[in-house]
Amino acid sequence: MGKARTDRYGNTREQKLINENRMLKKMIKSLRRELQKVNNYEHIRDILEGNCQEEQAQETRNVLENLKKIWACHACNEGVLEINIYSKLGESWYYRKCNSCAHRTPGKKYTSEVTGIYTQHKK
Ligand SMILES: [Zn+2]
Repeated sequence: MGKARTDRYGNTREQKLINENRMLKKMIKSLRRELQKVNNYEHIRDILEGNCQEEQAQETRNVLENLKKIWACHACNEGVLEINIYSKLGESWYYRKCNSCAHRTPGKKYTSEVTGIYTQHKK
């Protein structure tokens, strides 16, 4: 009886496979689209939360590294000079002191233009 086997819709085995294949391709396409949306969302979230903070943190580190080079202590060649602000006759004065040896600079009147590494206040 050399008749091709058909299902109840009259499709041959081959046609069935073609149809299934077509459906799977459609499914993959829509899944890819969903995945793209998720990826885009995660990308945006990264920018908003992670990457921006990371960039800012990197920028802060760069600035700090630069300051460490500028204010490297030449007395011990190990530490960096940190700004210590103190009060003198009701005015703000400062000196820079090495965080590794006893080297320090003479006191000067403090202004907002003074830049450098500020002492981390330890409790
Ligand atoms: Zn030093």
